[in-house]
Amino acid sequence: MKLCMIGTGYVGLVSGTCFADIGNQVYCVDKDKLKIDKLNLGISPIYEPGLDELIKKNYLSKRLIFTTDLKKAVNSSDIIFICVGTPNKIGTLKVDLSFVYKAVKEIISVSKKKNIIVTKSTVPIGTGDEIEKIIKRSKKKNFTVISNPEFLREGEAIRDFKYPDRIVVGSDDKKIFKNMRSLYTPIINKGAKFFSTSRKGSELIKYASNAFLATKITFINELANLCEKTGINIEDISLGMGLDSRIGSRFLRAGPAYGGSCFPKDTKGLVAAAENYNVNLSVVKSVIKSNYDRAILHTNRLNEILGPKIKNKKIAFLGVTFKPNTDDMRDSTSLKMIPYLSKKGAKVSYYDPSGEKKEFTKFTNCNFKKNVTENCKHADLIILHTEWDEFKIIDFKKICKNKQLKIYDLRNLYNIDYMKRKKIKYYSIGRPDIS
Ligand code: NAD
Repeated sequence: MKLCMIGTGYVGLVSGTCFADIGNQVYCVDKDKLKIDKLNLGISPIYEPGLDELIKKNYLSKRLIFTTDLKKAVNSSDIIFICVGTPNKIGTLKVDLSFVYKAVKEIISVSKKKNIIVTKSTVPIGTGDEIEKIIKRSKKKNFTVISNPEFLREGEAIRDFKYPDRIVVGSDDKKIFKNMRSLYTPIINKGAKFFSTSRKGSELIKYASNAFLATKITFINELANLCEKTGINIEDISLGMGLDSRIGSRFLRAGPAYGGSCFPKDTKGLVAAAENYNVNLSVVKSVIKSNYDRAILHTNRLNEILGPKIKNKKIAFLGVTFKPNTDDMRDSTSLKMIPYLSKKGAKVSYYDPSGEKKEFTKFTNCNFKKNVTENCKHADLIILHTEWDEFKIIDFKKICKNKQLKIYDLRNLYNIDYMKRKKIKYYSIGRPDIS
């Protein structure tokens, strides 16, 4: 099939590349010329394991085309996927759909043929209806609008796209399911479930799924607070609960506040959408509040660990992205912790395998280091922030000169007994401290 992805970010680039890899011709369009120029030079604008090789392979086979020429891309394609961002409107719970509606208007203005428009972006209930209204006002009739939300996770995006648990397609025109099933046949044949529903139903499934996962994380994070007060190990609770197949073990690991490009905005977006229908989603509201409070809890904990004198303390972050195997910084806990420490006069350094971050360049007392050893050499406190594999077996005594070294492990990467044996002051999440 001939496909067009509007927006070549985390979702548009990965799904477009994977669609090409299963035999489709895919135009990846972005309004960011720099991004398209980079891609045409073979440079991926994002860090995602395995993506560079897949882009190269499909680009060379001419199945994958990167362009800013929307007119050509739209008129060469049968199905157009909208993959633009849907952030929160600043300072509100509401979703900013301006990128989606702008993309729709641009598609309408250049299209000369019959197209299926698919919202792959995460959009609130009724967005498909609004898109139809825009089409109606334009007096062009040759579009069908459907919903096909994306469930991939950054860092595992290729595997998630090629081997998803389910593919959700929402349309009020049942004939469309045949086209979409046919597009996804290679993936369905590998075991993915094809689930068809109404367009609004599909829009809600995506928000509901993300809000549920955020709730699970928040639940175990609050229990970790209780464990810290009672001397119980949260990992035993996660394991003991997770063994119940009705509960399941995934998303039950205590850690920092959830972050990233999806959970924070989608929980808020769901609450705002429900309010439009006068429905109070009190559970999701509590999750949002609890997650916000958790970020404050981390800074309070830093005060406890470091004592009253934070000024001039050398604090080394291992990882700053919101999760491993991605360069995405959106809503990462480090964005709250580093400015806090910097304001208090600490000397902050960080190393992240995905490279230096523009978010921290404005802080004079925050420096990027090129590897783990350089970063930790003189540290008073090491903060294990992100669970990159290379942080899982570090000999801290060997690389750090400070005999009084403290470690704050936000991901519970190390065994408490091991830290005891090494005589390192070790603080983790929902487990007894070694101080
Ligand atoms: P992103 O910010 O990485 O990418 C969006 C891209 O769209 C940008 O490159 C931007 O330049 C481009 N763009 C915006 N308007 C455009 C237009 N009119 N024409 C052409 N290009 C345009 O966003 P993302 O993380 O890929 O997320 C996209 C959507 O997918 C969001 O709704 C998000 O919630 C959803 N989603 C994201 C993930 C994820 O892990 N990132 C997972 C599932 C779903």
